[in-house]
This record gives sequence, structure tokens and C-alpha cells, in this order.
Amino acid sequence: MASDDEDECGYFYDDEDADEDGVAAFEDDAAPPPERRADYTGFRGGGIGAGIAADRLCGLRIFVCTPNPSSFQIRKGGRCYAGSAAITQESLYTAQKQDLSTVMNLLNIKQHQARALLIHHRWKIDGICDCFDRKGRERMLRDAGIVLQENNSLASGGSRIPVGSAKCNVCFEELPLNSVSTMDCGHCFCNDCWTEHFNTSVKSGKKQIQCMEVKCPAICDEGTVRCLLFGKYPEMAKRFDRFLLESYLEDNDSVKWCPSAPHCGRAIRVGAGERYCEVECPCGFSFCFNCAAQAHSPCPCIIWDKWNAKNTDSENIKWILNNTKSCPKCFKPIEKDGGCNLVRCKCGQYLCYLCGGPTGQEHTWSSIAGHSCNRFKEETAGKSLDTKRQQLQRYTHYCDRFKIHGGSYKVEMEKMGPAVAQRVRLLESDLNLPFAMRDGDWLTRAHRRLLVSRQVLSRSYAFAFYMFGGELRTRPADQATLGVAKNLFEDQQERLEHHVEHLSKVLNAGAPAVHQVENLSKVPVAHVPAMPEAEVVRMKQETVTLAKTVETLCGEMYKCIQDELLPLLVEPMSIAAYRPDGPDKAKELAA
Ligand SMILES: [Zn+2]
Ligand SMILES: [Zn+2]
Ligand SMILES: [Zn+2]
Ligand SMILES: [Zn+2]
Ligand SMILES: [Zn+2]
Ligand SMILES: [Zn+2]
Ligand SMILES: [Zn+2]
Repeated sequence: MASDDEDECGYFYDDEDADEDGVAAFEDDAAPPPERRADYTGFRGGGIGAGIAADRLCGLRIFVCTPNPSSFQIRKGGRCYAGSAAITQESLYTAQKQDLSTVMNLLNIKQHQARALLIHHRWKIDGICDCFDRKGRERMLRDAGIVLQENNSLASGGSRIPVGSAKCNVCFEELPLNSVSTMDCGHCFCNDCWTEHFNTSVKSGKKQIQCMEVKCPAICDEGTVRCLLFGKYPEMAKRFDRFLLESYLEDNDSVKWCPSAPHCGRAIRVGAGERYCEVECPCGFSFCFNCAAQAHSPCPCIIWDKWNAKNTDSENIKWILNNTKSCPKCFKPIEKDGGCNLVRCKCGQYLCYLCGGPTGQEHTWSSIAGHSCNRFKEETAGKSLDTKRQQLQRYTHYCDRFKIHGGSYKVEMEKMGPAVAQRVRLLESDLNLPFAMRDGDWLTRAHRRLLVSRQVLSRSYAFAFYMFGGELRTRPADQATLGVAKNLFEDQQERLEHHVEHLSKVLNAGAPAVHQVENLSKVPVAHVPAMPEAEVVRMKQETVTLAKTVETLCGEMYKCIQDELLPLLVEPMSIAAYRPDGPDKAKELAA
């Protein structure tokens, strides 16, 4: 940190240089030469900043900064996802410095001015770019309360540029130039008065300290604040630095704390313009960037919140516990051990675990004549039931499916996961297979698709419960459209459900059995039977096709929700885009 402080003090002395330039300019009655300006920028930002500018704004806009700071050439291109980053206490400084450097280089302004502008725009660089487009550099800076030295009236008029000595307008002392400080606005006061002003401001929690002159909007130079405070109130200087760092987390719409509990100590920064997105912190926690709840797409934040509130309602849970699945033939309670939802009772009866209805033993779902149970049928609720009970029955329909797919996810993650990993290792090391076939990526990918689509399915029931339950206000004129969209959605959900079960079964057959995996450490790899080449070819073909289908169906469901269903609601809602591999993995930012 010591070297950083020195660095900041460097800016401070540099500002004094700039003042001298100002005097020189006044005497010569000419603007500083452009080359001088270009050097100045180079000194501040360095090559790294320019690289970051290109990186963060990749494709969005490319600024080419010419030696003359007032002329920018802007090229527009398509937007691209910059990727998310995980920020720790150690890398917070770096993260903030990146954004500061970007803006300092883009606009050729000083660090405290860049910070004021960024705080004004809640650290959204794309917001600054838009604003730049609309207003131009001068007006954008003025609107954010930033006073530039190069065009402040006092400095250019020269009326109060101190020569030799200066009088402080607070304590009315006449002091030598090395005991006074001038801010961007040209207002000059003695260092003692400034120090007390900074001390009071930091004490009251301010990170953007304004000039002492009445009604002057200029933000004081950070380097000056730090250096003066450090001399008399070192604790306050430290607190000021902490405020500045924390602003990056508190005033920043692109950064949020990872909501993991216990807290992992990281904050996540997402790419420009991403609000409805899901990210995975390096600690393993996946969350919705908009509402900071656990990832929940394709269910919108508001619905997810309602669903969770309802789910913890003890009355409902009691009712559901009393209504667990029992065999349609022998009526004994059924326990499920795998992820698959075609279950066989001890008595030999096959049933669909989702609805409890009897089915044939054929697993290929399409061959079970007319078996379809993802829709809630109002008529089956029966006329004799009172409304409350009917509502509960409707809720149970959705809640059951939500929980069962969630349970399948857990099994497919915890038990099938290691089995799939083992099969991948076998495939990659099987010397009996032709070299080109010693690859298990397709299997890993398919398993990931399965996990993601299980969650999509599970959450789709939470969404459907509210979307079609009449509880959310829909546009009255769109009732017919809602009916059509509901059918489309339920068809998609049904197809997705069938193919997910199918994929689950194929993967389960291809990976070693669960009990073998549990004591894998004791079983040498050679003892687990290898797959004959023909079998690998067949399984790969089936798996890849199914995984592709599942991916397409998930994508279609997200599209249906975002484009067909959500626009029918009075309250606007949005969902994160579908990502076949799950939430974007935030990369740890180097300190
Ligand atoms: Zn004074
Ligand atoms: Zn001022
Ligand atoms: Zn975390
Ligand atoms: Zn959310
Ligand atoms: Zn039975
Ligand atoms: Zn069923
Ligand atoms: Zn299928």
C-alpha cells in the first residue's frame, strides 16, 4: 500500500506541475502544446489502461484518443459479453483502478475526476459512453459536477492565480505558495484550513469532498486530500482511502457481494449492461445478479421470491407431507432412489412418480400411450372440493414437480456425477479404442446439459404456478393470447421433461453403477468393465443427439417465457438468458 500512496502523491506533485503549466500558459497566452498533453495521459494511464479500455469496451465502442484531448473518434460495433470477475479484498484496488484508468484515458481527465464521473454513473462505463454520445465531453463532465482546470474561469482569467504568496479566504493569513493548495476550480486556501475541512468531511462519511468555496461544486483532488490528511490525521487518511475503495462496491451497479453464507469474501463484477444474468462465484455459489438470490432462471425474480415465501408456509408443507406418493395398485408409500421418475413398486406396478399414475414398464416415454401429466387439470380437482382445498391441490401439483425434479438434480449431481467422471476417464485411457475415440468431452457436456435442464424444469413449475394461477395481473385484452402461449409453454415443458428423463436414463446406463462408484478408490480402473467400441459409438450418438435436443428445448422455453408470456403481465419482468452450461463462471481477478 505504501508504494500506492507514493503513486497517489505523485499525482499531487504532478498537479503542482500542471499549475506551473497554467502560469506559463497565462504568461505566454497560449494553450499547453498538444504533445505535453499526450505525455500527461501516458504517464497517468500507462499501456495497461488502454488494454483494459479495449477489453471492457470490446466491440461496444472503440475510442481512439488523439493527442488533442477534445477530439475523440468513436466507432460503434456489436455488444459483447465481457465476462464476469470475482473481486477479493486484495484485488479490489486493481478492479477499481481498471475502471478509473479506462475513464481517465478515454476522457483525458484526472483520477478524482474520473472517480466523480464513475460514481455519478454508478460505475457504468457503458452509461458514460452513452452519455458521451448524447452530450459530448464538456457537458457530460459539467452535469456530473466536474470542474476541469483547463476551462475554469478563475484559472484562465488568472485573477486569483497565486504568485509568490497567497491569502487564504478562510483564516485570512497571507502565506507562501508551498503552504496553500489550489483545486481544479482555481480556489486556493491554506493547507491548514483544507486539512480541517477534509478531516470534518471524512468524519461525516463523505468520499466526494467538495471545495471550501461557497457554492463551488468542484470535487477536491484525491491526492491533495490524502497527502494533507496524512500529515495531521493519518487515521482519517486511511479512512478516506477505505471510503474510496468501498465506493466501488457500494455505488456500483455492476458489482455485487457474493451472497454465499458464510460469506466467501468476494464481490462479483459483471460485464457491461448485464443486469438479468446469473453468475457463479469461485466459491461455487450461483446467484441471480439482479436479486442476489440463488440462481432461479427461467423463473423471474419476483415470482421466485413469491414461490419461496409460499414454499416455507408450514400449512402447505404439512398438507403435502400427508400426500406423498403411494403405489396406485398396493397403496404402499413409494420411495424413489434414482433420478429417473419412472418408478417400479415392490409389488411390480410401474408408475409415474410425477403424478403417481400407473404406467407400463417401457421407459421410452413416447410409447406410454397418452401419458402426459405436466398440465394441471382444473376439472380433476373435482366440484365437491372447496376452493381452499382446490387451491392447495393446484399448488401441490406444481410443488411436487418442482421438488421431484430438484431431487433428481441432486441424485444426478451427487451420484451420477462421479460415475460419469469415471466413465470419461475410462474412455480417455482405453487403449482398445481407436485413438480418435479416446475422448469423453461429449459425455461431460451431456451430463452438464442434464443438470442444467433439470433445474430449468424444476423452476419452470414455480413459474407456471404463478403465471397461470391468476394471481399476477395480466393485461385484460390479452386473455386469448395467454391461453395460446400457455399451451405452447406446456407443450415445450412436456417435451423437455420427456427428453430429460430419456437423457438421464441413457447417461445412467453408460456410467458405472452407483454402488461401484462409492468404493472406487478400492477398485482398480482395470476392474471396471470397458465398453466395446460399437457400444461407445452407439451411446455417443444417442447422448449427443439427446443433449442437443434438450439444449434446444430449454432455449425455446426461455424464449417463450421472455417473449410470449412475460409481456402479458402488467408488472414488467425479465429473466436471465439461457446458458446451456449454467451460470457464467466469474474468474478470480488478480490482485
Ligand atoms: Zn486558511
Ligand atoms: Zn472551488
Ligand atoms: Zn462466493
Ligand atoms: Zn433474481
Ligand atoms: Zn405396489
Ligand atoms: Zn405422470
Ligand atoms: Zn426422447
